[in-house]
Amino acid sequence: MRYKTIPMDQRKKIALVAHDNKKNDLLEWARFNKDLLAQHDLYATGTTGKLLEQELGIEIVKLQSGPLGGDQQIGSKIAEGEIDFMIFFWDPLEPLPHDTDVKALLRIAVVWNIPVACNRSSADFMISSSLMTEEYERIVPDYSDYRAWMKSIPK
Ligand code: PGA
Repeated sequence: MRYKTIPMDQRKKIALVAHDNKKNDLLEWARFNKDLLAQHDLYATGTTGKLLEQELGIEIVKLQSGPLGGDQQIGSKIAEGEIDFMIFFWDPLEPLPHDTDVKALLRIAVVWNIPVACNRSSADFMISSSLMTEEYERIVPDYSDYRAWMKSIPK
């Protein structure tokens, strides 16, 4: 497979998602890192986003609630290059109605090579990286040959 790069600006587009049992963890983490988060554009699933806005007083793009399609919306934004970083505190101890969406979101984040933190220590390491304030070239799959080949097939 061929690869290309997508530039990440200094100002990152960050998705934040937390399952119900992990929302307090995310709120505490976000409060501690409020000044750093305020330097970036923030997106979140519905309930997570509402709680974060109340906690931080920072505007957040709120998508659908996770079980209603919010995880899939974030996955779609990742594939479109509209999200370049994800904090996803998923619950390892409870089955959820949208487990398949959770798996799909984690998968698509790996496909598109975006940094993902699934717990607080990973999130601490990621947000304190010097790359957070620099531009970064993210390596992603290049499907342009495949798309050109698809277009060349007669209908
Ligand atoms: P919520 O969704 O922020 O709307 O609770 C999170 C999730 O369950 O994926």
